[in-house]
Parts: sequence; C-alpha cells; structure tokens
Amino acid sequence: MVRAHDIHKAFNGTAVLQGISLDVAEGELVSLIGPSGCGKSTFLRCLNLLEIPDAGSVSVAGIGIDRQRGRWSRADEEQAHRLRAGVGMVFQGFNLFAHRTVLDNVMLAPRVVQRLPREQAQTRARALLDKVGLADMAARYPATLSGGQQQRAAIARALASEPRVMLYDEPTSALDPELTDEVLEVMRQLDRDGMTQIVVTHEMRFARAVSDRIAFMQQGRIVEIATPAALFAAPAHADTRRFLKHFL
Ligand code: ADP
Ligand code: MG
Repeated sequence: MVRAHDIHKAFNGTAVLQGISLDVAEGELVSLIGPSGCGKSTFLRCLNLLEIPDAGSVSVAGIGIDRQRGRWSRADEEQAHRLRAGVGMVFQGFNLFAHRTVLDNVMLAPRVVQRLPREQAQTRARALLDKVGLADMAARYPATLSGGQQQRAAIARALASEPRVMLYDEPTSALDPELTDEVLEVMRQLDRDGMTQIVVTHEMRFARAVSDRIAFMQQGRIVEIATPAALFAAPAHADTRRFLKHFL
C-alpha cells in the first residue's frame, strides 16, 4: 500500500533523510519511533509529498513518484496531487477550523475536494462522527471540545476523504494522559477495520500493543524494523536498546 524507497531530503545543505526505505502492506499498522530531530516528521511528510524528497521514490496505493534531483515538473505536481488524495493526515495540534462546527469540519473536504452533494457529504460526516464517538458533538465548535474529542474530530475529518492510508504525527502528544487513550482507541478500531496506518508516536505501550511492526529511526535512517515482540525482546542494535530503555 505504501512504498518509500531510498528517500533523501536535506534542508539548507543539512541531510535530514539519508536513504530511508519503508514498505507497508495493506491493513498494517507501523509505528515510527526515534529521538527528537531524527527526521520522523519529515519522513511522514515525504510520504504524502507535503515535503518533496530530493531523491527516491514514494508510492501510495499504486500512485507513485520517482524523484530525481532536479526540477519538480507540472506533471510531478499533478501526480503528487493524486497521491495526496489517497492519504489522510493527523497532526499533533488538532488543526480544526475554529469557526466551523465539528460537522462542517468533517464535511468540508468531501464537499470542496470531492464535490459531493451536501446531503451525501453530511451523511458520510455523521457516520464518521458516530464511528469516532462524537455523534453528539456535530453541532459544537471545536473550542468547546476536549483535546481528545478535537483529535477524534480531526481523525474523522481525515477519514472523510476516504483515504487508503492514514498518517499520524504524534497524535496524542498534546493531550493530557487521560485523553490519550480515547484517541488511541479510535486508531485501534481503524486497525481492526483494516485501515493502513503509519504512526509517529512516543506512546510505547500503544506501539507495542497495536503495531504490526515498529521502525526505529535515527539520524534520517531506519536503523531497525521488527515486530513489537522481536524489538522489545531483543533489539538488534545497541541504539534501539538504549532508546527503548527510556520507556521501560
Ligand atoms: P522529528 O520529527 O524526528 O523530531 P523532524 O523531521 O521534525 O524530526 O526534523 C528533522 C531535522 O530536520 C531537524 O533538525 C529539523 O530542525 C530539520 N527540519 C525539519 N523541517 C525543516 C524545514 N522545513 N526547514 C529546515 N529544517 C527543517
Ligand atoms: Mg516530529
């Protein structure tokens, strides 16, 4: 479902991604862990081409870009647009539109991007709000919701475009601990439904319990990728072991 091959990315001459590759099968949940600044967010952003890799290839659901250093063409941009349509993204901050109700937030992309008739968009949005446990909050404004509810609304909004893959960048880092679980539970439910998900997280309990595989990143590379059982029982690299120790 997701293929990233040998991605390189530098900012102002500083290499941030140094040849990173990752294949994720349909229905898999892969957690990305690693120290702050190792390139997790940049990699996630490269997967949906919010950030354009300097080199390497990315494809999502068979829609791909093979990037050579040099000019980013109009055709590349169009292909990137098609790729992004298949990807839902959830950030640390909830990024809901403050002046729209929760329902409108979730309806917006289907209405504007997919040009769905209002009634259909609304039916879909209500079903998604129900799925994330926010059926009662449809008419509310984001500021009147708890952080956990806002993040669940953000997930519903990302799902509204019917993505093939969901990407999350530290989705619970801005939440109080007691609100974290309700967000993780939504991701767990999506996993049961067969959604393909890639999650940058520091929630090691979640990563361990729910991931099919966990990738440990360091300095712009995936140092090690394995099932949670294998990674926690016997990390192959000393750096992985050292990193995991902080969470045990
Ligand atoms: P992580 O998410 O693992 O903490 P990031 O991908 O955010 O790491 O950042 C990796 C490195 O790239 C950091 O040193 C960061 O300062 C740098 N970086 C990220 N985005 C940009 C940008 N748009 N411009 C310049 N430097 C950036
Ligand atoms: Mg980050």
